[in-house]
Amino acid sequence: MRLKLAKKIGFCFGVRRAVEMAEKVLKKEGRAYSLGSIIHNKQVVESLSKKGLEVIKSIDEADGGIVVISSHGISPDVAGEISRRSLKLADTTCPFVRNAQKTARSLGEDGYTVIIVGDVDHPEVKALYDFAGRCAHVVKDASGLKALKLKPGERIGILSQTTQSMDNFLGVVKAITGTKPKSLKVFNTICKDAQMRQAAARDISREVELMLVVGGKNSANTKRLFEVCKKILPKSYLVETEDDLKVKWFKGVSVAGITSGASTPDIIVRRVAKVVKSSAECGKERKVANSTWQKRRTASK
Ligand code: SF4
Repeated sequence: MRLKLAKKIGFCFGVRRAVEMAEKVLKKEGRAYSLGSIIHNKQVVESLSKKGLEVIKSIDEADGGIVVISSHGISPDVAGEISRRSLKLADTTCPFVRNAQKTARSLGEDGYTVIIVGDVDHPEVKALYDFAGRCAHVVKDASGLKALKLKPGERIGILSQTTQSMDNFLGVVKAITGTKPKSLKVFNTICKDAQMRQAAARDISREVELMLVVGGKNSANTKRLFEVCKKILPKSYLVETEDDLKVKWFKGVSVAGITSGASTPDIIVRRVAKVVKSSAECGKERKVANSTWQKRRTASK
């Protein structure tokens, strides 16, 4: 079986920057709090926690010291609370997210009804909503617009969670155009990395018989990539590590593809690729015909 690796795998610029900043803080301070997971990847969070990073759910849990916030950013209220409590802040907000925050704030200040295309429960979207101010709405896709009952003649500004798919964003823009707003401002705030990663995943999904998307199951951009692949290739699977692989998926497959979410370290992608490859080779030689992936992984080490 041949294996094709997508052109863009491993950490994106923003996640790499956030992890490096957190590591620097830990080296200097010895310990720090992380407001929520610094990235949506269990393995990286565990490794940082061993170095002294304690994940807290709320600022109330921070007992002095320094708080690291993730590349998804935080709302102005939370930033104010951190400062009010005289906690030190290590702000790893990705510059692309920062740009979306500025856009949301400026639209809100100019009196626009702000539509944010994204996952309502995602920390980045929650913060964008707060930046936009009173007249903001979050929609997952075009179907979510019905509930908003937008009237003709409204002034609408639209932007996106940075990791959304372009197709979904454009679908919402098209549906809003149909409501005949008085003025419509569209800001494509999807980050370049997400766009390139999705495009690369789309390309490779058309060339293979099976697709693996490696990443955290709670990572928004990984889930988006998985949706992109699944739409083209039903035989697409989301795995966090090599331990999630199943032998039966690969029966009769001669070429498989691998891509990864922006918060997946290269090393995990390469480990998955190594296990798939070594198992395929073992299969050819009929050495371990009926063993599990786990056994094969151990054998390959
Ligand atoms: S996916 Fe894009 S916006 Fe999000 S952290 Fe990475 S580079 Fe920044």
